[in-house]
Amino acid sequence: MIKRTSAFLILLAAAAAFAARGPVRLQNIRYYSYPEYTRVVLDLSGEVKIGEKVLKGGEDARLFFDLKNCRFAADYPLDKKSEIRIQAGNLQRIRLGQRPAQTLRVVFDFDRIGKYNRFYLTSPFRIVFDIYRQDEFVSRARQEPPPVAGGQGVPSIARQLGLGVHRIVIDPGHGGKDPGTSNRRLGLREKDITLDIAKRLNVILNEHKEFEIILTRPRDEYVPLEERAAIANSNQGDIFISIHTNSAPRQNARGVESYYLNITADPWAMEVAALENAMSSKSMADMRTILDQILKNCNISESRILTRFVQESMVANLKRKYDVIEDLGVKKAPFYVLLGAQMPSALVEVSFLSHPLEGRRLGTPEYRQTVAAGLYLGILNFIQSLGKK
Ligand SMILES: [Zn+2]
Repeated sequence: MIKRTSAFLILLAAAAAFAARGPVRLQNIRYYSYPEYTRVVLDLSGEVKIGEKVLKGGEDARLFFDLKNCRFAADYPLDKKSEIRIQAGNLQRIRLGQRPAQTLRVVFDFDRIGKYNRFYLTSPFRIVFDIYRQDEFVSRARQEPPPVAGGQGVPSIARQLGLGVHRIVIDPGHGGKDPGTSNRRLGLREKDITLDIAKRLNVILNEHKEFEIILTRPRDEYVPLEERAAIANSNQGDIFISIHTNSAPRQNARGVESYYLNITADPWAMEVAALENAMSSKSMADMRTILDQILKNCNISESRILTRFVQESMVANLKRKYDVIEDLGVKKAPFYVLLGAQMPSALVEVSFLSHPLEGRRLGTPEYRQTVAAGLYLGILNFIQSLGKK
């Protein structure tokens, strides 16, 4: 009797261990395909190990990799199960196949493959591939080899030559099913305020004929975080600005702050990034998976300069018309929306929607116009700085 009981317990323990280690499920494959650039996102139920191989070649360039201990999820879209035809850019199709030993093989077929980047996002786990047609992906403002990551104070060639900025990509935070933060007492939602500021900024910038403005969302619609940098890259944007409103449990938290993409040890910056990344600050603590990508990012120093110009101009412009504007300064944090952007980028938290006075101000067209004008001046100052030195 004792023997039988213990045997039964051992079996249960084994089953539990198997469940814990059970296969990861591939839930979906999304892609954003353009002539020179494609971003592919694999949505997974958990972390997977992958081994990848590239076969470069003219006609039949291929990239394939095996997702270990991975199976299709029950609700994985049927029409994407064996082959996904794309044919919009250099990526022709994606093929999938379940292989023995719980392995899912994914094959990308190209007409031509250049540089590509891969990185992970967590909660939920995603693998992102940025695939370029050319070996070098160049925005028109930065036709120079990238400066060393994190390099301080070394003027880039773009800066020295003053190469122009033409395409400005404006990203109104959130949208559609994702309202962002809100102030219920005032009946205000972040997604409406960011869209309004973006539209105002668009109008002002459009007075310069040499600028081409691209909004990642021109209306109230849901655009995944991963798609936003993809839109900026595919349009070969020269500047990328993501607009947000801040929020804090502390009602008296107030002020204007701007961020560029980098790792940080600042707990407040981590809180803000966690909120914008739609993840818990606990899972933000494990940043190792995206650390690589951040260090590979070649725009850290240009982004820091852009962020400083935008922050200073926004604060200065608001101070001209409003009292008690607090300058919280330029900060760095790992924001998913900026990851993989191939141009100088900044995320601005224009004011606190959770603060009684700033919330009220954000509700007025005058304040939003002043914010937009401040962003405009910051962008202009950044561009002019490219012509100096
Ligand atoms: Zn936001």
